[in-house]
Amino acid sequence: MQKINATIITIGDELLIGQVIDTNSAWMAQELNKIGVSVLRRVAVGDEWNAIWSALEQESRYADILLLTGGLGPTADDITKPLLCEYFGGRMVTNEKVLAHVRHLFENVYRRPMIERNARQAEVPDVCTVLHNARGTAPGMWFEKDNRILVSLPGVPHEMKGLMTDEVLPKLKERFQLPVILHRTLLTAGLGESFLAERIRDFEANLPGHVKLAYLPNYGMVRLRLSATGFDEQALTAEMEEQFNKLQSQLQDILVTNRDEPMHQVVGRLLKEHQKTIGTAESCTGGYIAHLLTSTPGSSAYFKGSVVSYANEIKTAVLGVQPETLAREGAVSESTVEQMVVGALKHLGTDYAIATSGIMGPDGGSPEKPVGTVWVAVGNSHSIVTQCFHFRFDRTRNIELTAINALNLLRKFFLEQVAHQKTNSH
Ligand code: ATP
Repeated sequence: MQKINATIITIGDELLIGQVIDTNSAWMAQELNKIGVSVLRRVAVGDEWNAIWSALEQESRYADILLLTGGLGPTADDITKPLLCEYFGGRMVTNEKVLAHVRHLFENVYRRPMIERNARQAEVPDVCTVLHNARGTAPGMWFEKDNRILVSLPGVPHEMKGLMTDEVLPKLKERFQLPVILHRTLLTAGLGESFLAERIRDFEANLPGHVKLAYLPNYGMVRLRLSATGFDEQALTAEMEEQFNKLQSQLQDILVTNRDEPMHQVVGRLLKEHQKTIGTAESCTGGYIAHLLTSTPGSSAYFKGSVVSYANEIKTAVLGVQPETLAREGAVSESTVEQMVVGALKHLGTDYAIATSGIMGPDGGSPEKPVGTVWVAVGNSHSIVTQCFHFRFDRTRNIELTAINALNLLRKFFLEQVAHQKTNSH
């Protein structure tokens, strides 16, 4: 069976100067991958006739499908449409359906007068199939030439996504016989990428050619993704299950989750399953852990609240951290985060609590406590565990790393407590 290849071309000067980050092609690549289309290349070009033209010529050599976004608007720099008209040897005609839609948007949705320039959105090359853009004025355009498909979509992300979902993806599935691609993901913590690779060397070496393993390290943890490609969905699902179980069984001691979910969801799920509650006392993370936990729908079942105790007087007045501890050991210290946990448990009335205090940078470091020094404590009414981390990135990344590692510490502590209770009850 033949592999179907795609190229994504994003158009716009703003992409080249970094003013707008190209999120369109990342999203499109994910969606194409899900339906079994391989994305071979992603290309960004400016609003320049020759650049767009040569990108089309060049990419047509490799790709069965070319997907373009951007440059369809009503302004002078939007040249994609006339260029495609010339490229495919067509002539511009007014599409009455699009015109009626643009009129409807101006009259009933935008409630603004429509000018001649807006009406031009309804002009399309007579050699394309128009794709209805329910969310905006610029229609999508589907061209076919020499067994190759080219689709031009607006650059506005939600319009592009709507057109992809409603029109382009279903049409591509109809048009090509596409393979099934399955993914299974697990997350590990506690073993570096190269040690991990050593441990599963034999497993990796014995994988069949159509099953691939990817290492995705982040936040000091490693996500492993198995991807299998084939045409027999049932057989492929069974094979994937077998390989994934094999992989999992070799990683039991460092496994965080065998689902494609972030750390805060793992923690949330555990708390919910055991009907336990949590609160946070955050200094250097400024509420970020609370934000992560509450970004999951239904988190009110386990998350109660947070004290963002950035200033020392809040640590003492609200959480009950002793002023002597702060004076003697400083805010970034083991004793401080321990007392923050005690205060959070008491004042938030939760079963578990997380506390963070650290120096996130770029300023505020000292020889004893350089930037990136973070103390984390997690605990319940029986015990508290602490850990000191040394991160070495910029402020944003240090905050993210603190949050994810604090949640991981809580996860491990929680599982130990559950195991402990089980042993005691037997
Ligand atoms: P419309 O006619 O509906 O405005 P358009 O095709 O003219 O669409 P552009 O003018 O190229 O689209 O881009 C519109 C906006 O969409 C840009 O200002 C930018 O914010 C966003 N955008 C464009 N391309 C991308 C991209 N690749 N990734 C993310 N956002 C993008």
